[in-house]
Amino acid sequence: MAHGEGGHGGGFRRSFGPREMHDAVCADCGKECQVPFKPQEGRPVYCKDCYQKHKKF
Ligand SMILES: [Zn+2]
Repeated sequence: MAHGEGGHGGGFRRSFGPREMHDAVCADCGKECQVPFKPQEGRPVYCKDCYQKHKKF
């Protein structure tokens, strides 16, 4: 946690260059979506809606 760009503490998030988006298919509803990280095999990827759903739990 040495860098000042940590995830917590929030507030302003300056853009850090173009963010690479990866195509993925939602593991829940099957909708095509894009995620800011590289989908890994064996790891479910969720679209925005489903992500919220799963995050809440
Ligand atoms: Zn979904």
